[in-house]
Amino acid sequence: MIGCHCATCRSTDPRDKRLRPSIYVDVRGRIRLLVDTSIDLRQQALAHALDRVDAVLFTHAHADHILGLDDLRSFNELQGRPIPCYGNAEAWRAITRSFFYVFEGALQKGGGIPQLVAHEVGGPIDLDGVRVVPVPLLHGKLPILGYRFGNFSYLTDCNAIPDASWPLIEGTEVLILDALRDEPHETHFTIDEALEVVGRLKPRRTYFTHMTHDLPYAATNARLPAGVELAYDGLMFDIEVDA
Ligand SMILES: [Zn+2]
Ligand SMILES: [Zn+2]
Ligand SMILES: [Zn+2]
Repeated sequence: MIGCHCATCRSTDPRDKRLRPSIYVDVRGRIRLLVDTSIDLRQQALAHALDRVDAVLFTHAHADHILGLDDLRSFNELQGRPIPCYGNAEAWRAITRSFFYVFEGALQKGGGIPQLVAHEVGGPIDLDGVRVVPVPLLHGKLPILGYRFGNFSYLTDCNAIPDASWPLIEGTEVLILDALRDEPHETHFTIDEALEVVGRLKPRRTYFTHMTHDLPYAATNARLPAGVELAYDGLMFDIEVDA
């Protein structure tokens, strides 16, 4: 946190250095997907030497998840074609206003503007033969999307999973789930609420994400049950997609 001197913010553990939430799904030899264009996209792409983004999936349009969108133009240059982007109607309403110059047609291109093709998500998406299932979630009053890729579900920024969405995530073996802090919050799961979801869904492995500095990495992990741990920047693991 800017200006904070708490133990987490002063920690020398690299797992306490948190950029904004985003994941990259690399289906080797087929397609590389980015979920959200975080404010820190440029830094994240450089740190992990990303050189390809075939499609972008938006969870929702809060600033931490979209404000790196302009940097997608680097991938346009590398790939020489527009990038298809997916999100729900609420997300597109906000993204097209925040990035009017990308979606309304620019007067002049200057250093270049991202070439993106906006798709409103209605149901499962087939991306180059890889099946991606949008999972409607509630982030306070805002309807947002999680995404399921085969045995893996990514559910960030939520404090409720609607009844109709449970069948969509049933059988998830690897889960990334929002767990903001211990104190209740209007739009995010607490650790205890997230553990209730884990108890019902029973994934083999769960990673909590979107933590505040209230949750230092090592001390928080030490009190989580077996099979549940905090995610950290640069975390990598294998999943099995439906392809
Ligand atoms: Zn702090
Ligand atoms: Zn949010
Ligand atoms: Zn967020």
